[in-house]
Amino acid sequence: MAHFHETTEALHRPLAYGRDAHSEPLYITSAYDFESAEEASDRFNNRVPGNVYSRFTNPSVANFERRLAIMEKAEEAVATSSGMGAYLALGMAYLKQGDHVLMGNGIFGSTSHLFKKYFSQFGISCTPLPLTATAAWREAIRPSTRMMILETPGNPTLEVADIKTLSEIAKSAGVLLVIDNTILSPMFQKPLTLGADLVVQSAGKFIDGQGRCVAGAVAGTSQSIAPIKTLLRSGGMSLGAFDGWLLSKSLETLHARMIMHETNALHVARWLQEHSRVNRVHYTGLPGRADSELVSQQQTGHGGVLSAEIKGGQRGAWQFINNLSIVSRCTNIGDAKTMVTHPWSTTHCRYNHAEKLTAGITPGLIRLSIGLEYLDDIIADLDNALSKIHIQETLPA
Ligand SMILES: *Cc1c(COP(=O)(O)O)cnc(C)c1O
Repeated sequence: MAHFHETTEALHRPLAYGRDAHSEPLYITSAYDFESAEEASDRFNNRVPGNVYSRFTNPSVANFERRLAIMEKAEEAVATSSGMGAYLALGMAYLKQGDHVLMGNGIFGSTSHLFKKYFSQFGISCTPLPLTATAAWREAIRPSTRMMILETPGNPTLEVADIKTLSEIAKSAGVLLVIDNTILSPMFQKPLTLGADLVVQSAGKFIDGQGRCVAGAVAGTSQSIAPIKTLLRSGGMSLGAFDGWLLSKSLETLHARMIMHETNALHVARWLQEHSRVNRVHYTGLPGRADSELVSQQQTGHGGVLSAEIKGGQRGAWQFINNLSIVSRCTNIGDAKTMVTHPWSTTHCRYNHAEKLTAGITPGLIRLSIGLEYLDDIIADLDNALSKIHIQETLPA
């Protein structure tokens, strides 16, 4: 077959099942019928390929995994019941008592909590590090360090970690580099091509793009995905057929949607930056960033997530949020609808104040996931809400 861009290939590659249906059928089944006792035994023992039970494999889920793998430039991807299910599977498949993990210090709250509260019960320790302090990652590696986990761009302050340099550090120490690629989606960043070992996706975000399901995935080489698939077979945090089908269809429009998210987000970021009630805006697409060269080396786009510091601290931020009408107050990202979050009091509330401030999360910071609405309507809504902040007398200069 001719070599196509991954967007085209993912759309058109002949699928393993349902070749005559132009849109893939949905395989709602838990079990599979075997021709004979011999066939059942062969499938169970991996002597012949084929489905056994939907906790192990399901055609609708397999279609999603296959399309995602193409887009991430991975040999293989495995779907999980949620993004957190992906982290749980990853940790259980790869970590053992006494192991140590390095983690980005502003990482998704539940990811941090999973390691700090739960994996610690099994003797696995974790050190948080700033995303941009590349040398500190090298220095923090111990003989027991097994894994480095980070999101780039970081949520919600959109700091960027140097994936290539970190992957060289990881490789020379025999450590696995795991990148959470949820914010940019495979459309704008392919961490595996920059040296990462595994990529995690919270697939209910931009991959689904319409806020319809909770799902996750891990992508990498077949060899690196195998232990996770084996774990899922016993651990059971597998994805259901319906969500697998939904996500494989979602991937057909990922490219088009991401371009639109980015176009809208870039306009909003520029507009907010000029606004008198906004201190600063974080978005990798804005000019004048100290890391713009790194950004252009490892990202092919900037996506739909940005954050901004509203003047007046938490009061200013909450008044702004409460006066929005189109923009949803919703602690999610990657929906077709624009959403706003106050990270300090919601997504990052389990971090203490010092940890939040170190990660750049201030009381006035709001995060926006820019959707696919008509741009002028998004800006009008933001403008109206900013104009209704009534704490001017206490605003810092
Ligand atoms: C949402 C999210 C997760 C968790 O994924 P779920 O699918 O909600 O379990 C992990 N990492 C990032 C960056 C996320 O945005």
